[in-house]
Amino acid sequence: MSLALHNTLTRAKEPFAPIDPARVRLYVCGPTVYDRAHIGNARPVIVFDVLFRLLRHLYGPKNVAYVRNITDVDDKINARAAERGISIRELTEETARVFHADVEALGTLRPTIEPRATEHIAEMIALIEMLIARGHAYAAEGHVLFNVPSMPDYGKLANRSLDEMEAGARVEVAPYKRDPMDFVLWKPSEPDLPGWDSPWGRGRPGWHIECSAMSWKHLGEVFDIHGGGIDLVFPHHENEIAQTCCAFGHNVMANVWMHNGFLQVEGEKMSKSLGNFVTIGELLADWHGDVIRLAMLGTHYRQPINWTLKNLQEAEKALAGWFDAAADHAESKPAPAVLEALCDDLNTPKAIAEIHALKGAAGKKSLAGTLDFLGFRPQEFAAWRKATAPEPSIPAAEIEQLLAQRLHARKTKNFAEADRIRDHLTAQGIAIKDGPEGSTWEVAR
Ligand code: AMP
Ligand code: ZN
Repeated sequence: MSLALHNTLTRAKEPFAPIDPARVRLYVCGPTVYDRAHIGNARPVIVFDVLFRLLRHLYGPKNVAYVRNITDVDDKINARAAERGISIRELTEETARVFHADVEALGTLRPTIEPRATEHIAEMIALIEMLIARGHAYAAEGHVLFNVPSMPDYGKLANRSLDEMEAGARVEVAPYKRDPMDFVLWKPSEPDLPGWDSPWGRGRPGWHIECSAMSWKHLGEVFDIHGGGIDLVFPHHENEIAQTCCAFGHNVMANVWMHNGFLQVEGEKMSKSLGNFVTIGELLADWHGDVIRLAMLGTHYRQPINWTLKNLQEAEKALAGWFDAAADHAESKPAPAVLEALCDDLNTPKAIAEIHALKGAAGKKSLAGTLDFLGFRPQEFAAWRKATAPEPSIPAAEIEQLLAQRLHARKTKNFAEADRIRDHLTAQGIAIKDGPEGSTWEVAR
């Protein structure tokens, strides 16, 4: 089975060939920990979790290194901590803790490595020094800036020319910038804000250099796949490429760049600034994580998702049906047809269609293994369904009694009576499930 991935760099789907199959290396930009993550932020977490699982399957679990960083130094963090009257450390620890709980509830695996920006300041300073030495960066008034015109390839990922970008840039042109496109690698820090000693005085890093430093430290100068949401293509990823390539003199940072589309609400990107967001925590209060996960995977990762209640309801129904059908057929391997769909640039809608097809007798035995492979959790889901089941319209004891009567009717071959009881219960909104161990009931939803 061969994996093909769409590469933002080449704007084409390409066969994937890792640099070293014994260490496949994936980097995904992680959260800036100043506030609760919203369900749009969960999209890259879920999408790249599926990729991580697929790579582990194809290359062996020990042979895949997945790095997702935590950005714990950022101006938004400083502002929020001041606003809440708590220390920066308290804010970043609390937010990282909630993030971990949220994404675990969504059924995602922990990345192999989760580096924190504040623990990689030395690597950032080293990178900046290399960039200065190679003539790609300069210090001015306590700042260090990357000089964009020093890199002829700049704009390749975003597919924009320097002229276009300069015309579109709404950046404030600080007097110490040689070119309006130049971006900050390091800036001076006020005494009451986090800062580290550096050759340019006490300061703190810019956002882009953080990812270049952490990916370098944990994955090397050139690695396989870099991912994130599509809003990160420019300027964040373009700038990561500029920094890493210019520091080491390579022409690539990662061979494949993958970007998920936006999660939208009524045609607009879900975002903190628009205020149209639902946090992962809020959604988890009403839905099991598997439902959210499946609703997310119903759309191909490169397409925008329109987030609706209907998607969640359909996902819940699908999962209930799958787990029911899978119950007694535990084969641990995922179905080849599902793997094949995923190998085609993570075609999750196709994979879901294939899972529906597995419900038929021939596919049943691989259903459980497939759902497990994708991170779905039957026991947890069943427990959640039970806990959130609506009250039956007739007392449970009465339902049990009717089921016993029905069983008796069937045993005595009085099928008309058995059907009558079933129809009566159906009319009351009670669904009967006949299994090898007898019949059970639940409130139909
Ligand atoms: P941020 O905290 O804004 O840096 O976002 C963290 C991750 O979530 C990045 O990979 C973003 O691209 C991604 N992201 C943010 N908003 C959305 C959205 N509405 N839909 C999909 N991805 C998003
Ligand atoms: Zn990044």
